[in-house]
Amino acid sequence: MLYQRSSQLFLEAQKVIPGGVNSPVRAFKSVGGTPIFVKEAKGAYLYDEDGNRLIDYINSWGPMLLGHSYEPVVNAVIEKAKKGTSFGMPTEIETQIAELAVSMVPNVDKIRFVNSGTEACMSAVRLARGFTGREKIIKFRGCYHGHSDSFLISAGSGLSTFGVPNSPGVTKGTAQDTLLADYNNLDSVKELFELNKNEIACIIIEPVAGNMGCVPPMNGFLEGLRQLCDANGALLIFDEVMTGFRLAKGGAQELFGINADIVTFGKVIGGGLPVGAFAARNEIMNFLSPVGPVYQAGTLSGNPLAMAAGLTMLQEINKDAELFKRLDEKTAYLEKGIREVLTKNNIQFVVNRVGSMISIFFCDGEVVDFVTAGKGDTPYFKNFFHKLVENGVYIAPSSYETWFITDALSYADLDETIQAIDKVTQEI
Ligand SMILES: *Cc1c(COP(=O)(O)O)cnc(C)c1O
Repeated sequence: MLYQRSSQLFLEAQKVIPGGVNSPVRAFKSVGGTPIFVKEAKGAYLYDEDGNRLIDYINSWGPMLLGHSYEPVVNAVIEKAKKGTSFGMPTEIETQIAELAVSMVPNVDKIRFVNSGTEACMSAVRLARGFTGREKIIKFRGCYHGHSDSFLISAGSGLSTFGVPNSPGVTKGTAQDTLLADYNNLDSVKELFELNKNEIACIIIEPVAGNMGCVPPMNGFLEGLRQLCDANGALLIFDEVMTGFRLAKGGAQELFGINADIVTFGKVIGGGLPVGAFAARNEIMNFLSPVGPVYQAGTLSGNPLAMAAGLTMLQEINKDAELFKRLDEKTAYLEKGIREVLTKNNIQFVVNRVGSMISIFFCDGEVVDFVTAGKGDTPYFKNFFHKLVENGVYIAPSSYETWFITDALSYADLDETIQAIDKVTQEI
């Protein structure tokens, strides 16, 4: 395959955009080489600027659950755009998507829409602090909750890839209010509660971690967090930006049968447009401005194009009773195929999967937290990545990322992918 045009576009981009990209992981820094510039995408396929077709396992990092250029969503956006693209005034469609989202997600009464997952998590933590009157928060090493200051402390994927655990520009004051625990390790959380009695406002967690590769919660871990929060008067925030409307209609809360106090959304909820949201019961949401004292706002929040895309996406998900079963079956088929060819080719590997989130780590043992996830960050991965691309399969350009399976994938696509993995692991 040729990347002539992508290389040229990357050179031009670097002159006017830092690193040539508007979000760091796109730059291929951890795998080397030239980022692929996309021209268009349809269903399960990307078409790049050099005319190559790639089977896509990133899917915009999650949003394209039903595939690219999904017609009902595209049409809804086109129709809405003809009627004006932003007003800064309330519109009916905001209530329609809020009603639908609240009806799909367990344990929430109200939802507020913002423009990104970052904004949703930042606002959820502010709300938790306002509600509890406490300042400290607990996050887990390797979990990512967007790029706002209090989360840029051991934050997974992009940051892990670059080996920058803390970003310059985050003040010591902010860092000291963020306490770090280890994923799947309840004792590390208990200890923080003991050392910081009555000071912890909330725990924020990815209920299935997806930003250090896919790392599922062990049995009892999320239940344990729920109990620790209840015993200590802290709120439990599920960051469902990745898992929401992907693992089940009601996300991880539904899948694991555990209630969080605040839930954040992004990715799928926007159907490919910039949308985030956070939701909770009335007693918590009523703390939010203009009803309550915790301030939060946005000029483009609830933007009509974004709401049209999001509403249509949620409607499609809501009416398709078989969707999550189908996604699980497709991903299980891929998992089985990957296990077979990697075993046959004597590769050391770990595959983690929950529903349509899956990742391969090239290491032995188990991957249960940030430290064990790091064992898969090997030169082998770089080779694997580039050779897969050469064979028409596009996965995330970092070993710390999850693959997002879309319903647009056919079994023929999955077979082609498994064959490509077989071929490249024989070649490396
Ligand atoms: C992607 C992601 C975010 C950040 O969302 P943006 O829309 O990129 O700001 C937050 N939390 C999780 C779990 C994510 O996967």
